[in-house]
Amino acid sequence: MTKFSDLGLDPKVLAAVSDAGYETPTPIQAGAIPHALRGRDVLGIAQTGTGKTASFTLPMITLLAKGRARARMPRSLVLCPTRELAAQVAENFDIYAKNTKLTKALLIGGVSFKEQDALIDRGVDVLIATPGRLLDHFERGKLLLTGVQIMVVDEADRMLDMGFIPDIERIFQMTPFTRQTLFFSATMAPEIERITNTFLSNPEKIEVARAATTGENIEQGVVMFKASRKDKQASEKRALLRALIDGEGEACTNAIIFCNRKTEVDIVAKSLNKYGYDAAPIHGDLDQSQRMRTLDAFREGKLRFLCASDVAARGLDVPAVSHVFNYDVPSHAEDYVHRIGRTGRAGRKGKAMMICVPHDEKNFADIENLVKKEIPRLENPLKTAAPKATDTAKDEQPKPKAKSSSRSRSKPAPKDEQPQVEAPQPVAATAPSASESTKSSSRSKSSRGRSGRGRDDQVVGMGDHVPAFILRSFKPA
Ligand code: AMP
Repeated sequence: MTKFSDLGLDPKVLAAVSDAGYETPTPIQAGAIPHALRGRDVLGIAQTGTGKTASFTLPMITLLAKGRARARMPRSLVLCPTRELAAQVAENFDIYAKNTKLTKALLIGGVSFKEQDALIDRGVDVLIATPGRLLDHFERGKLLLTGVQIMVVDEADRMLDMGFIPDIERIFQMTPFTRQTLFFSATMAPEIERITNTFLSNPEKIEVARAATTGENIEQGVVMFKASRKDKQASEKRALLRALIDGEGEACTNAIIFCNRKTEVDIVAKSLNKYGYDAAPIHGDLDQSQRMRTLDAFREGKLRFLCASDVAARGLDVPAVSHVFNYDVPSHAEDYVHRIGRTGRAGRKGKAMMICVPHDEKNFADIENLVKKEIPRLENPLKTAAPKATDTAKDEQPKPKAKSSSRSRSKPAPKDEQPQVEAPQPVAATAPSASESTKSSSRSKSSRGRSGRGRDDQVVGMGDHVPAFILRSFKPA
């Protein structure tokens, strides 16, 4: 088996790697590092979780160890699709370069230009950036890319999804033709292939796993869930999520809960909190400092549940996530692979569970087609749970008759239905049906009875089916 010391890395880098606790290189590291150190272009086809960050950071640090940074002319450039991923690469860089004097700057949105300008003015060895922010700096005349010797493009398939390919092409053209390029993507879409054919020179191709393969160390499952009533789907789904979490007990040390929409991310996080689960949301509408705080808390184990959207969670590296819950079935099948890849990283075991409602069945079928295996069906834990275990169970209790319509209910609604915190119920849920409105209007009329007309709205034996004419007063108005 290859050892880190066989790869040709600088001893200072080897010491940092050993301090990080890595014993053996991962396949992408063993494959890419020796070529990168020889100055070759590398095309790495690898997902997050395979150790790809170190596969480009470690040789970069070794290669840059000689030489010095010049003002406004970074010597290397790492492009990442999201702020979080860029920040994560920067953190990795700090770990691996701790025994060197190399400097870095992180150019991402949400951080003041002034601070970033000051760093660049002084000169940095490594510039880690998102494409948009890098171009902003360039256009302000604060940055020259003509000194870039090594350029890394990380998660190119994500760049493609997010529409960054034209920016990437522009940036490639601003760097010297002689630069070395290390290019990483989980998939090789035709557009990505075109870019690599244009900008990479005879690259060494290292492929560690098919994009559509889901890690063998991740146990997967899906609950095919149909709500008792359509208008209860949202609250019952949240109850099911809680039941799935509870079912995992202490094995669920922490988890990322994926939702398809930002609004849903917020609702699920709030709902979990309300039920005493330690959760926080992360999505693109939250400001950068808040996103960073949440992520840090999650990484440090101070936050147990991270509710996330796909974009926010892209490339997130939290080494020890025990579980991933797909609260929604992702609408792009590849996102499933990315989502569940947050668990079971670096050879650890992980578990991924998904809730599939009838509406999602087509997307779910696409996922099974992509991963080329059947995802095991799980029992719905609520079907077997004691009635008081969840809200759903409460909801399922038979309703008291006569006065039990949603309008006349005197008991507080189950927490999950209280509108101040949860999503508004669909219109269909609150708008009474024609017959219901007749009932409630007749009831409200008749409830004036006791004080007004001496009649009670209760007609013994009629239950909820009191015909309106029986309640009608025959006295002239
Ligand atoms: P990445 O694919 O770069 O996001 O890395 C996934 C995780 O694997 C990170 O938490 C790294 O710290 C960890 N890692 C990277 N290389 C190794 C290695 N050789 N041995 C153990 N863990 C590693």
